[in-house]
Amino acid sequence: MALNFTLDQQDLATQARAGRLTTRHGEVSTPAFMPVGTQAAVKTLTPDELSAAGADILLANTYHLFLRPGVETVRALGGLHRFMGWPRAILTDSGGFQVLSLAKLRKVTDEGVEFRSHLDGSRHLLTPEDAIRVQDGLDTDIAMSFDEPVEMPADPAVVRKAADRTVRWAERGLVERDRLRAEGRGAMALFGINQGGVDPGERARCFERIGTMPFDGFALGGLWVGEERALSLDMVEHDCGLFPVQQPRYLMGVGHPVDLLDAVARGVDMFDCVLPTRNARRGTVFISTGRLVVKNSGYARDQRPLDPACDCYTCRNFTRAYVRHLFASGELLGMRLASIHAVHQMIGLAREARQAVLDRRFAAFRTTFIERFRSGETLARPEDDPIPAPTRKGPTDDVE
Ligand SMILES: [Zn+2]
Repeated sequence: MALNFTLDQQDLATQARAGRLTTRHGEVSTPAFMPVGTQAAVKTLTPDELSAAGADILLANTYHLFLRPGVETVRALGGLHRFMGWPRAILTDSGGFQVLSLAKLRKVTDEGVEFRSHLDGSRHLLTPEDAIRVQDGLDTDIAMSFDEPVEMPADPAVVRKAADRTVRWAERGLVERDRLRAEGRGAMALFGINQGGVDPGERARCFERIGTMPFDGFALGGLWVGEERALSLDMVEHDCGLFPVQQPRYLMGVGHPVDLLDAVARGVDMFDCVLPTRNARRGTVFISTGRLVVKNSGYARDQRPLDPACDCYTCRNFTRAYVRHLFASGELLGMRLASIHAVHQMIGLAREARQAVLDRRFAAFRTTFIERFRSGETLARPEDDPIPAPTRKGPTDDVE
């Protein structure tokens, strides 16, 4: 069995769930926030720091690793876990989203996606079968089916066509995994992705077929891509109502604390997003009382930690004044300290949500958290000028 999912508790007042995923590299408790290790690294952080933040699973991007260093190199070096020194679980995305957002001159056909690398312009073809083979070569624990995301807003006909293609590609990916398994490979779990934009009918039509396929879990695709938030949450509720209760549900690309809790309340188990760490490297972090812009001059002599309610390494040891100074001086340690807090904060939030479900108090926990998050307590006034952001692209500001 590639993956085992145990539901420990289901909330009575909401659809929130507490569960555990058993992978080939340890147990993952859910709800789970997965930090994003785009190119086999969560920018600026070591595996030890990620473990200390409570991470039991990371996400890595297939598209990036496919282009550099290449799957054969990772395989020769013992697989992704050994290559990046991370012994716990890894989920890889299918590459589809990055191909469509980063690659040049891409052409989507029924066969797959033809594109030019954003690194050197080299020409590649990524098919649904390739996406499965590459993820298997990386030795991931959870692979994602190759889907065709749609840029929003999109014409209904375009959404429908992409959903149909996603279904056919899902079938081909499963066939490829079976073929790999016949060769003694393909041990990874595989999740299907539901598409259909923000049209409930289209999403239901897509899942009518995806839902009958032998996937180990299901993801909600094509949401949080620019549409209205209330509409996205409606789609989450809609999809979770269709997805099987006994399998994990993964909402891709969501990383705002309030969005996370609102989606947990609708039945989602897993999340990933570059937002918390990307913002942290630019000097903005979420804390329990809102969004803290470290560079704000109001913190120049602030002796409190970034979040007085947080027990991460950064908040236990450093003041806002110091972290602000690091950003003002262009010291890389500022990015690291902010990233440590950001990862700890999101993983901690998912953990607290889990505990609240287990204790049968999730609805109250969510209300209290959101009220406090919107309070802005201890935050400097927004009119205090932040230091102008450097215009030059920083070394850790690479594509994601
Ligand atoms: Zn902290």
